[in-house]
Amino acid sequence: MSGIYIHIPFCKKKCHYCNFYSTPSDKYRSEIIAALQKELYLQKSYLHGDVNTIYFGGGTPSLLTMDEINRLLDTIYNNYEVNLAMEITLEVNPDDITAAKVKDLRTTGINRISIGIQSFHAADLNYLNRIHTAAQGEYAIKTLQDAGFTDLSIDLIYGIPTLSMSNWKQNLNKAIELEVAHISAYALTVEPKTNLEVLINKQKLMGVSETDTSNQFRYLMQFMKDNNYIQYEISNFCLPSHQSKHNTSYWEGVPYLGVGPSAHSYNQISRQWNCSNLAQYVESLSNNTVSFEIEQLSPMQKYNEFVMTSLRTNTGVNLMSLRHNFSGKYVDYFERILQKYSNSQLLTITPVSICLTDEGRLFADGISSDFFITD
Ligand code: SF4
Repeated sequence: MSGIYIHIPFCKKKCHYCNFYSTPSDKYRSEIIAALQKELYLQKSYLHGDVNTIYFGGGTPSLLTMDEINRLLDTIYNNYEVNLAMEITLEVNPDDITAAKVKDLRTTGINRISIGIQSFHAADLNYLNRIHTAAQGEYAIKTLQDAGFTDLSIDLIYGIPTLSMSNWKQNLNKAIELEVAHISAYALTVEPKTNLEVLINKQKLMGVSETDTSNQFRYLMQFMKDNNYIQYEISNFCLPSHQSKHNTSYWEGVPYLGVGPSAHSYNQISRQWNCSNLAQYVESLSNNTVSFEIEQLSPMQKYNEFVMTSLRTNTGVNLMSLRHNFSGKYVDYFERILQKYSNSQLLTITPVSICLTDEGRLFADGISSDFFITD
């Protein structure tokens, strides 16, 4: 089992909060597609076993033409063992969606769409510097559904300073009303070196309130539960059988190959990441090499990653997997830290697994790092 991630490094304009690698320039467009095909070919031995998921992320993959999508998929079909019931996801921005484009997308084999909605309110979209309007967000969802895409996911952001609690409730109600089967909801984070950080520091934009963010997250968890969505990962909610297979693979430690500038790959032994520079990426592929850095994972790193990713999921840390995959030193340490939490309201502790409670999810990063082992 394995997955392939394809990074499309173009966006029409940069959102203030974004720290993903992308550029508004179209300069290397045709070279990039050829380089992605070349990288897929050169890396065909990286994965073993069937490819079960393909994910077009970015950047803005909805800027791709059908010909470009088909060329990339054909390169995978011609060079990898693929599972015929594969999940193939395309991230889209609402302003790229038209009835004609959606009709064409149906012919490509893409069977899951993730839409960058973020909010159904104009003030929030302006704050984030999103390119689309609230109406385009709603139109995109309906147009994709009308064309027969049933596996739709939307991204929403909470904790935006312009987003009141009542508007957050409206955003969630709208998502339910529109019968979206999967919702990824993220807290607005001010990442270093983003425009958002600069503008907040210059007092041109309001800063983020931790209290408002926590209150909106608490409301989100209860609201989704009340509407029968499963919180299968801290930021991901779905109706039964609509879990993202691709993202679930990341949390379960399944190997994946990432192609494109800045893309990461993981094969259970090492992690590697491609250079974050378009010109360098294209140049190295034209010489039949992939420009990346690599890190071999130590047992300590594997343990820390296992704890962090498992705790984020609703199935939590499986104690049998912990004991099976890690030596006594790691298991003893985990059990010692666990005692600290035995009377807290933050973890649900059973003989089989350790899971975060709703309250614990508010402190997920801190709890995970408590269990980490460092040198
Ligand atoms: S569209 Fe997505 S990848 Fe592009 S700048 Fe905005 S958040 Fe970043």
